[in-house]
Amino acid sequence: MLAKRSLIVIRTSFTAFHKWPECPYPAQKFLKSLHRHKFYVEVRFEVTADRQVEFFHALEDLESITKEYEGKDLDSSSCETICDVLQYRLFQKGYTNVVQVGVFEDNENGAIHEYDPM
Ligand SMILES: [Zn+2]
Repeated sequence: MLAKRSLIVIRTSFTAFHKWPECPYPAQKFLKSLHRHKFYVEVRFEVTADRQVEFFHALEDLESITKEYEGKDLDSSSCETICDVLQYRLFQKGYTNVVQVGVFEDNENGAIHEYDPM
């Protein structure tokens, strides 16, 4: 049997506002002002056993964090910084096995950060 690595995937989304005041690109100067996105979040947890992480429990825990962002001004937060905050907050909730967090603006462009499992 081939070696395998098992990940479970939890997805959610929230709507919020942010800006990039230092944006150096004239064609994208609109990014300097506060603008709205629907942020799509995907979190991958490494597991070693079937049903080790219950999907609905992980989703509830993830959404208990993302609901704090709903409709809010996230100031100059980027997809990258949101990835790290979500990983940290999930770690605080006991999830030591988060290996990837992705955050995408309008399900289009975004960032994926990878973490080493504890
Ligand atoms: Zn943006």
